[in-house]
Amino acid sequence: MEPVVKKQQQFFNTGKTLDISFRKKQLRKLKNILKDNEAKIYEALDKDFRKPMFESYATELLVLYQEIDHLLTNIDRWAKTKKVKSSIINFPSKSYIKPQPYGVVLVIAPWNYPVQLALNPALGAIAAGNTVILKPSEHAPHTSGLLAKLINNNFDPGFLRVVEGDAETTQSLLSEPLGYIFFTGSTHVGKIIMQSAANQLTPLTLELGGKSPAIIDQSANLTLAAKRIAWGKFINAGQTCVSPDYVYVHTSVHTQLCRLIQQEIRSFYGDDPSQSDDYARIINDKHFNRLTNIIEPENVFHGGNTDPNTRYIEPTIMTQVTWDDAVMQEEIFGPILPILSFDDLDKIIATLQNKSKPLALYLFSTNNKNQKKVTRNLQFGGGCINDTVAHLGNIELPFGGIGNSGFGTYHGKTSFNTFTHPKSIMKKSNWLDISLRYPPYDGKLKWLKKLTKFL
Ligand code: NAD
Repeated sequence: MEPVVKKQQQFFNTGKTLDISFRKKQLRKLKNILKDNEAKIYEALDKDFRKPMFESYATELLVLYQEIDHLLTNIDRWAKTKKVKSSIINFPSKSYIKPQPYGVVLVIAPWNYPVQLALNPALGAIAAGNTVILKPSEHAPHTSGLLAKLINNNFDPGFLRVVEGDAETTQSLLSEPLGYIFFTGSTHVGKIIMQSAANQLTPLTLELGGKSPAIIDQSANLTLAAKRIAWGKFINAGQTCVSPDYVYVHTSVHTQLCRLIQQEIRSFYGDDPSQSDDYARIINDKHFNRLTNIIEPENVFHGGNTDPNTRYIEPTIMTQVTWDDAVMQEEIFGPILPILSFDDLDKIIATLQNKSKPLALYLFSTNNKNQKKVTRNLQFGGGCINDTVAHLGNIELPFGGIGNSGFGTYHGKTSFNTFTHPKSIMKKSNWLDISLRYPPYDGKLKWLKKLTKFL
């Protein structure tokens, strides 16, 4: 990987990416390439895990188009050098902050939104003036291959290059000197990436996963809650980092909610979801086997049918679940929804305060006090009140985790900031040089104190 990284470092050193019009041109070019190749992208996603075309447009391409447009509109303003007040101690001087790119950025992507999660961070990195090496996931091989073709045939490899491969390829990239690492994937691999980054003190963002709860109190609009939970859970066949992993519902409305989610599943995908064009498949056999092993038949309230040949898992609801069950031990990342119940919201808050901090949390409630209590007392990356997943649709909201679900944020302005080092510069004038700071200090301390007593 040495020549790949070296080539990018050399390109970065030419200063071409410091030119804002260059960055804009590349972003526009990327958007045009995506637009011209939408059909091929749908085909690759279909081959990888039968992703429905609507979802491919809405959750992959549309997100990228919006991000590109937002960056193009704001990049001039964000990239400007900003003057700040100078301090009296440095009189006479001027101070300013110069947004500077890090250099060569490595983006490591997962397979579950294989276009969007590879390119979205890359857009921010480009807007901020970096060069980008993109390592898509080997588990979505058709999409990875297509990205490599579309990008490597159209961009200077010194500026933007896709490197296909697995963990070994990623490790060899990580052993090179990089300006920034942006990783999206599992918490387990995130730790490995951070260890590699530590070797060269490379700054990084970790976008990880976790068990994101949906909490439903007695005051919730149950019909809408059921619809929005079923949508957020079963889109992409549950293979979404921010999908509601499990539901915590007040005992008084437990049965009603289970029935309503069941109804929504039928209305979305029909009586046999295996025949629906709108329902994706599991990415590979390993994940299929992992998921089928955590379905306890005696706990299945709805669904539970599977087909190993097509890697189909029916949208499944599990009830009578406790924290001791296999399904509650780790992030589900598939179309299985355990529903737990509670009587006392305060107890649930106390329980969740002792668990890993999730990437998302969803509260369904019309009670303002409960809304405040939950959003104030629980730590999580981000979330919604009375919806699921939809917070990602607002480019003004930073997206990222906390604790085990990662650190750092991106999307919109926060993407630009993530890939930018705010270089601080103080420009001193030469017409005056106050000698107070220079040794010998004899008798100077009282003057320093007098001068700075108002600080
Ligand atoms: P993963 O961690 O297995 O793989 C992610 C990337 O890391 C891949 O490109 C892979 O090739 C690479 N990789 C794997 N092992 C490696 C190693 N030992 N050394 C170096 N690189 C290695 O994740 P995945 O299965 O592709 O994605 C699923 C996970 O990602 C879930 O936990 C999900 O919650 C999380 N996720 C998070 C977000 C987010 O934005 N926070 C988005 C999507 C997925």
